[in-house]
Amino acid sequence: MSIDFHTLSQKYGTPLYIYDFDKMAENYRAFKEAFSGQKSLISYAVKANSNLSVIQHFGTLGAGADCVSIGEVRRALTAGIERYKIIFSGVGKQDHEIEEALNEEILMLNLESEAEMKRVELVARALGKPARISIRINPNVDPKTHPYISTGLHENKFGVEISMAKRMYIYAKNSEFLEPVGIHFHIGSQLTDLAPIAEAAQIVADLVRSLKAIGVEIKFFDAGGGVGIRYAEETLIDPLAYAEAIAEATKGLDLTLMCELGRALTGDAGYLLSSVLYEKQNGDKRFVIVDAAMNDLLRPTLYGAHHRITFLGQVGQETSQERNKADIVGPICESGDWLAKEVALPQTRHNDLIVIEDAGAYGFTMSSNYNTRGRAAEVVVSQNSERVIRQRESFEDQIRLEKAYLHV
Ligand SMILES: *Cc1c(COP(=O)(O)O)cnc(C)c1O
Repeated sequence: MSIDFHTLSQKYGTPLYIYDFDKMAENYRAFKEAFSGQKSLISYAVKANSNLSVIQHFGTLGAGADCVSIGEVRRALTAGIERYKIIFSGVGKQDHEIEEALNEEILMLNLESEAEMKRVELVARALGKPARISIRINPNVDPKTHPYISTGLHENKFGVEISMAKRMYIYAKNSEFLEPVGIHFHIGSQLTDLAPIAEAAQIVADLVRSLKAIGVEIKFFDAGGGVGIRYAEETLIDPLAYAEAIAEATKGLDLTLMCELGRALTGDAGYLLSSVLYEKQNGDKRFVIVDAAMNDLLRPTLYGAHHRITFLGQVGQETSQERNKADIVGPICESGDWLAKEVALPQTRHNDLIVIEDAGAYGFTMSSNYNTRGRAAEVVVSQNSERVIRQRESFEDQIRLEKAYLHV
């Protein structure tokens, strides 16, 4: 589908997040179909893009939800995800979050330490209802991704090592208030190599076999998320090969195979549309200043991430053929406020449009109000509709929780 960015910019203004729901559905189906013939549940990792309408879209397609805070659990429930398809992960769950999750009867809490398991047991005991749990295994496998988004090495804070996990499963099996039903790993994000995932799946499946031998029956095998997308020239993990590797690792076991994908479902289905404000030259260095900034899209600043830029210009106006390198930067008072570096661009004019590609994951959800900038609006396009799914944030929205405390 070709998106009419010019019309969208006139209707809704910029900066503007635009999501292609047909593309998201296509991404989801590629994974769901790859697991056909298996008992499977494809979950959507809500933190990648938490807009209620996005979550609802995946729910309608049949997806579950992977949540990392009670806020995300509430979003999933509000968006209509069935409670028996919701998982709650994260290293630092608080008592009130555990209690609410248990009361909501979600599928399971994914535990990340022994101390947390004891807390969950206490809360479950107080409520008088057993907690369905899974344990996140840290398989100590190097996912070969950016160190900030590697999570499956012992040096990362996530999960527990195999020997500890075994002890925890035995404890849980003997507890009146813990019901171990799942096992989980998630070794990192933006993975472009299947081998570390396959290796982790093998390690964790072997653990399932040894647990089975001592009477702990696991039902849900959750291979996490982390499947990468093509921001530049990355090779992609094929959904079929991915599903096959997980099926192969778990061969002979009676399990529901699960994965929880964020970026792979939404990343390439999102665009950040922005308008050029000014051009300037500092010595040899050319800057194009646009109305989107690091508060809208943090990934370049945070990870040094690369996003492709498409220059659209303006309707009915010729652009010069000559292209020269420029850094695309925002209005925020930080030198780190850049969106793309060394992009070949024609001479730009005020209000020329650019599209920052692949902004559908970890884009809007990481946005902030830094420099008292309202968050961008979000709109959805698909073959049969176009609609706003979040209003542009106003100044009043931003000061709402402070205003009452001003001295009179
Ligand atoms: C973030 C996260 C995911 C999703 O990661 P992607 O790289 O976006 O697929 C899945 N599972 C857990 C536990 C996570 O924290």
